Amino acid sequence: MNTVQYKCPYCGGELTFKPEEKKFGCDYCDSFFTEEEVARLYEETNKQAEANADPDAQTLADENDYSDFENGTRLYECNSCGAQIIAEETSAATFCYYCHNPVVLAGRLTGAYRPNYVIPFGITRDKAVADFKKWCSKRWFLPSDFKSEQQLEKMSGVYVPFWLTSCDADAHLSCIGEKRRSWTSGDYRITETSEFAVKRSGHFPFGRVPADGAKKIDDALMNAIEPYNYKEIRDFSMQYLSGFLAEKYDVAWEDVVGQTKGRIHQGCKDKLRSTVSGYDGIKAEQLNVNYSNMKKEYALLPVWFMNYHHKGKTYSFAVNAQTGKLAGTPPLSMPKLLGFCGGLLVVLAIVITLIGGALL
Ligand SMILES: [Zn+2]
Ligand SMILES: [Zn+2]
Repeated sequence: MNTVQYKCPYCGGELTFKPEEKKFGCDYCDSFFTEEEVARLYEETNKQAEANADPDAQTLADENDYSDFENGTRLYECNSCGAQIIAEETSAATFCYYCHNPVVLAGRLTGAYRPNYVIPFGITRDKAVADFKKWCSKRWFLPSDFKSEQQLEKMSGVYVPFWLTSCDADAHLSCIGEKRRSWTSGDYRITETSEFAVKRSGHFPFGRVPADGAKKIDDALMNAIEPYNYKEIRDFSMQYLSGFLAEKYDVAWEDVVGQTKGRIHQGCKDKLRSTVSGYDGIKAEQLNVNYSNMKKEYALLPVWFMNYHHKGKTYSFAVNAQTGKLAGTPPLSMPKLLGFCGGLLVVLAIVITLIGGALL
C-alpha cells in the first residue's frame, strides 16, 4: 500500500490541513481535528505505509536508474475512486485527477527520503491570491490576463524539499588599512600614507541555512522568499501533506552544501568587515573560515506557486506560505508599454509646442 488518504471519521470526507485553524478539517461536515487526533486515527496506516516503501525510494542512485526505465512517472491507485493516478517521479503528494481527492504517496517519503521536519502552511490560498493581486496593483505594464481568475486558479500549494545546514564558523579576517593625510609645503603637495595590519576573528554559530533540494525549482526564487521562521517547525508527519502537492528531494545535500558554505562565508565577511572602520582605504583582504559541527536536516517547507506563460516564456511566482513574502519577475505587456511611451511622447510634443509658442 503506497498511498494514504486521510478521511473524516464522521462522514468519510477528505481531511486536509487548514492553515487558519491550524487543524485538520473536513469540508463536508465542518469537523476539525488536531494533529494528535489525526495521528491517533491513522497510527496504523502511517506505520504500514512507512513499512511498505516504494522499491524506488531507497537511494538516489537507484532512483535515477529507475526513472530512466520508467520514463519518470509511476502509477498509483486512488483509494477513493479506484482510478489510476500518474505521479511524477519526485511527487510525494498530489490529487486524484478524477475525483480530486488528495492523495499522499506515502512510500515516496520513507528511508532516506523521510523528512525530519515540516513547517505547516500558515497562509490560506485566498490570502496568497489576495497578496498576489495587491502586488500586481503596484505594477503598471502587466498583461491583462495576468491576474485573471483563470490564471489565479493555477496558484498551488507545494511542500518544497529543503536542506537545512547548521554549523559553527570560525572566521579570521586580515587586511591592510590605509590612512592618508596631505599638506602643502612650498611648491609641493605632500601625501603621507600609513598602513596598519588589521586582524579580526569571530566565532559564528549558523543555524538552519536553507537550500532547496529540488532540481526543477528555481534556487534564486527560493532564496528570495526567505526567511522561514523555524520556531514553527515540527517533527515530520505525513498527514500534513493532505490537500497540498509535495516533492521529495532529487538534489543531494552534498550538492547544495558548497552553495550554503558560500552564503555562510559571505555572512562572516559582512559581520567582521562591519567592525573595521576609520580607514581611508582597505587592501589585501583575506578571509579564512573553518567549519565545524556540520549538521544537515531535511525539511518540507510550504510555498504557494504560480506559473504564467507569456509569449513563449514561463514566469514563476512564489509566496512564502508561512510569512506571505512574495517573489517573482513580472512579465511586461509590450502593447501597454508602447502605449505609455507613445502617450509620453505626445505629452512632450505638446509641452515643446507650448514652450515654443511662448518663446515666439
Ligand atoms: Zn466529515
Ligand atoms: Zn480518485
